[in-house]
Amino acid sequence: MNNTQTTPQCLSTGLNAIKNAKQNAAAPMIRLSSRQAHGSRISQERRALLPKLSARRGTSDIKAILSEDPTDSEYLTDNHVDRAMLTWSDSVCDTVDDGRCSVLTQALYRDRTEPEFLQTVHEIMVSTESLLMENPKYFDVFQRMIEPERVITFRVPWVDDNGRTHVNRGFRVQMSSTLGPYKGGLRFHPTVNLSILKFLAFEQLFKNALTGVSLGAGKGGADFDPKGKSDTEVMRFCQSFMTELCKHIGPGVDVPAGDIGVGGREIGYLYGQYKRLTGRFEGALTGKGPTWGGSHIRPEATGYGAVYFSEHMMRGAGHVKGLEGMRAAISGSGNVAQFAAEKLLDLGATPMTFSDSGGTLYCETGFTRDHLALIQDLKNNKRGRLSAIADVPEFTYLPESTPWGMSCDVAFPCATQNELKAEDAQNLVANGCMAVVEGANMPTTPEAYQCLKESGVLFGPAKAANAGGVGVSGLEMAQNSGGLSWTREEVDSQLKDMMKNIYDETSAAALRVGQPNDLRTGADVAAFLRVADAMIDQGCV
Ligand code: NAP
Repeated sequence: MNNTQTTPQCLSTGLNAIKNAKQNAAAPMIRLSSRQAHGSRISQERRALLPKLSARRGTSDIKAILSEDPTDSEYLTDNHVDRAMLTWSDSVCDTVDDGRCSVLTQALYRDRTEPEFLQTVHEIMVSTESLLMENPKYFDVFQRMIEPERVITFRVPWVDDNGRTHVNRGFRVQMSSTLGPYKGGLRFHPTVNLSILKFLAFEQLFKNALTGVSLGAGKGGADFDPKGKSDTEVMRFCQSFMTELCKHIGPGVDVPAGDIGVGGREIGYLYGQYKRLTGRFEGALTGKGPTWGGSHIRPEATGYGAVYFSEHMMRGAGHVKGLEGMRAAISGSGNVAQFAAEKLLDLGATPMTFSDSGGTLYCETGFTRDHLALIQDLKNNKRGRLSAIADVPEFTYLPESTPWGMSCDVAFPCATQNELKAEDAQNLVANGCMAVVEGANMPTTPEAYQCLKESGVLFGPAKAANAGGVGVSGLEMAQNSGGLSWTREEVDSQLKDMMKNIYDETSAAALRVGQPNDLRTGADVAAFLRVADAMIDQGCV
């Protein structure tokens, strides 16, 4: 672990950039106490900005804007809608504004209590700015794109081993069927809410488009925590969840898979109940067991795919040996983290860390295959915490810490959204990290991303880098509908091709919009065009 106190390299560049960006973004926002919001003490500077905001929101009634949320001053300060629209204001909106901007602002404003969702929408707005300026027809598409086709919420009652009743909230966000049946995972985690699922479903739309497979986008789950529950409690919960969900899914309609808290065990219980209720053995879920309709390599696909993608990224940036010899910091210790580590070992790289929500496990000499097998047994069978193996002599366990303070060549955030923050990015830069590859969805905060970008760190964006999982889910659907079962080698070879195509497509799109090597913009643009053009072809639906 590097505990250096020296000023990280990107403090002088990245941090200043963050500060400037914050100043630029924050200056136009309305920072008002609730008393101020009622109009008594609005600073002149802030008052001057209100007309701009009101124009963007399509209303001249400033008092109405302020009174929309009069009790929550911080809310207005950090309002992602304002940030999004004001980022655009001097470029896109002033170029094409014929009312479209205000319509879009109103649409975003409806979702003002959904910060994760607005964060991902904001990213796409920035990435596609030049496309929208060139071609205002995409504004109308954007407006439709950010509204899910359907959101289903439902009660999930279940009884624990002591006979006590619990009620969780279940969701399915059917975001888009433009490119195929709704497709995206189910997450069981206590933090699950509509904002998180809409952000995941929106990301899924772009990711699925990049795979080239015919897949729409969705996401679902429940605020249920499988941790500490017995197998029979998890089974009863899954059965209750599927009793409602089965009314809305099916092959050709909506095909969920796993995500955080939903692995092979949960998919098994969910599929068993689906079959029992519908009387049909069919491809209504992916991630199934290999003997009952699953595809080889599906469990491995997200982690393997992220490593295949990063290998192309490193070679594309002139690292002729790819990942060979590199030390990798990995966060998480679940599905994506485990298989990213396995593939890194295959390619001659060394995983240095794993983590869970309790802390980070570090191995100074690098984790071996035997170590990985120990972690897989702990997580997949014993369902324990990393702290339980802290006493292995080669390991150091750091409670309540993330892996981002460690020295590494590449970082693979594979746990959850917004887990890699600005100070983590500064530490990574200071410790010589040359690439960040997102195994998780949106793990890098906007400030951290800016720091990495300013510091010249290569960046593999989630929508591209972790698309291998859903890509192989698409292959599982193809095998199910054709009654086929491809070998491990056949599926792995298709996964490799898919990740290469995604890398080539994102690089080409980045070049096309004048941002060579900016793979995040490239992925957003390439996917946006594929979805947007198909939406235009299919009319206003
Ligand atoms: P998983 O098997 O449930 O593992 C999740 C891991 O992340 C666990 O180690 C978990 O630790 C850790 N984690 C979760 N929330 C955390 C938090 N708030 N703070 C610290 N650690 C946290 O899930 P997964 O399938 O690997 O998914 C990981 C990420 O990859 C998610 O962002 C998911 O959306 C994304 N992803 C997954 C797939 C897929 O095929 N599975 C595909 C594409 C993207 P605890 O056990 O302590 O919570």
